[in-house]
Amino acid sequence: ALLEGVLMRTAGEPNASDVVNYAPFTLLPSAVPRALFQQAYAVQQDFNLLVDAISQNKEFLEHTLASTIKVDDFTARLFRIHTQVLEEGLAQSVFLGINRSDYMFDRGPDGAAALRQIEINTIAASFAGLTSHTLPVHQRVLKVLGKSKEASHLLPNNPAKGLALGIAKAWELYGSPSAVVMFLVEEVQRNIFDQRCVENELWNRNIRVIRRRFRDVFARGSLGEDRRLYMDGQEVAVVYYREGYVPKNYDQQNWEARLLLERSRAVKCPDIATQLAGTKKVQQELSRPGTLESLLPGRAEAVARIRATFAGLYSLDMGTEGDKIAAMAIADPDRFVLKPQREGGGNNLYGEELRQVLEKIRGSPERTSYILMDKIKPQPAPNYLLRAHSPLQLSECISELGIFGVYVRQGKEMVMNTAPGHLLRTKAVEHADGGVAAGVAVLDTPYLV
Ligand code: ADP
Ligand code: MG
Repeated sequence: ALLEGVLMRTAGEPNASDVVNYAPFTLLPSAVPRALFQQAYAVQQDFNLLVDAISQNKEFLEHTLASTIKVDDFTARLFRIHTQVLEEGLAQSVFLGINRSDYMFDRGPDGAAALRQIEINTIAASFAGLTSHTLPVHQRVLKVLGKSKEASHLLPNNPAKGLALGIAKAWELYGSPSAVVMFLVEEVQRNIFDQRCVENELWNRNIRVIRRRFRDVFARGSLGEDRRLYMDGQEVAVVYYREGYVPKNYDQQNWEARLLLERSRAVKCPDIATQLAGTKKVQQELSRPGTLESLLPGRAEAVARIRATFAGLYSLDMGTEGDKIAAMAIADPDRFVLKPQREGGGNNLYGEELRQVLEKIRGSPERTSYILMDKIKPQPAPNYLLRAHSPLQLSECISELGIFGVYVRQGKEMVMNTAPGHLLRTKAVEHADGGVAAGVAVLDTPYLV
């Protein structure tokens, strides 16, 4: 893994590359039903269109997020910036979306598996880089085990290149060859090597890349003529956010930096409307009858493909509908997951904890900061999870498949719409929540069956 570049900085020295370790991964590839894998790819361009449509629909976002904004300060602040930039008028007509739609394989009563979307990440979707490096590790392991034929069946996968092609297209349409691409990065950058994979693809195309934090933007970023964005004297064509998706990313100065970026002429990946389109409240509203049809008029087949991936999603808005849903979840908590408007793993509530929290807030508007979702119950399979400094042991595991989506729109015209690769993450069944960065899931490679 070290040889192939499946790397992460350490928790002890999260911002130094003097000491690195391997990113966690499974010893063996995990079986994934071929039909579901293909279904997930086949719906990705539809999801790209859907996210893009939502981001352009001010009324839908306003109406859908109205109850959330009242009780969730983070969503409210994002929404305020969204409103502010629309009032001023957008300085850029090129839009770049990079997302990852995540799924689990739900086991039905007849034992057959079904593809169920967990969520779609419309900002800072990670691991497009490291996942392609994990593939040769798994090929090698299979060969060591005498399974050369099986090794040759693992599918090629390089989503980082597809992400870079999207960024490069947006950079080109910006139309200023001396302008740079800015990766907006977090204070703590343990996952830098994943980002460098995308960055390298851009340098290979002779596109300059800089890495900056919100505080750098606050201190040294400025808007010039036509609201062009300048950072340390360099014009910025594209801002690619790997930051800014959770409240802890922001203090007052960072909020001001975010507003500056959103007001600018630079292409934002994502713009703030697209970030809002990825909220869990939006996901829940999409499952209401008629909503997809109204967002994607005249695209009945796309609507059907999208809807086929939805799990049961329920609103906890105030009123009799929400009262009934809350009572249903309290009576049978193991059937559901309670989700706040947060990203990054570790925020959801399950089982007894779900019941207790919901019992406490069932009569208060606080409940509207959550959505309720059917719990997906995949068939576990044994694997070994390799994590630095952890003992190696056989675990019963479940996997989550992510498909990357990339699109570029110029005005009304989609000039790119792709599904350039996938990510498989696997965790032990006893962990209800959490991704790779949260230290729960590990990198995996699908073996189609
Ligand atoms: P986040 O934005 O924090 O990543 P997710 O919706 O992806 O939020 O949930 C985090 C994790 O919780 C997922 O990776 C998955 O392991 C688990 N999870 C989320 N929703 C469900 C569900 N409906 N059924 C089973 N597990 C779920
Ligand atoms: Mg997630």
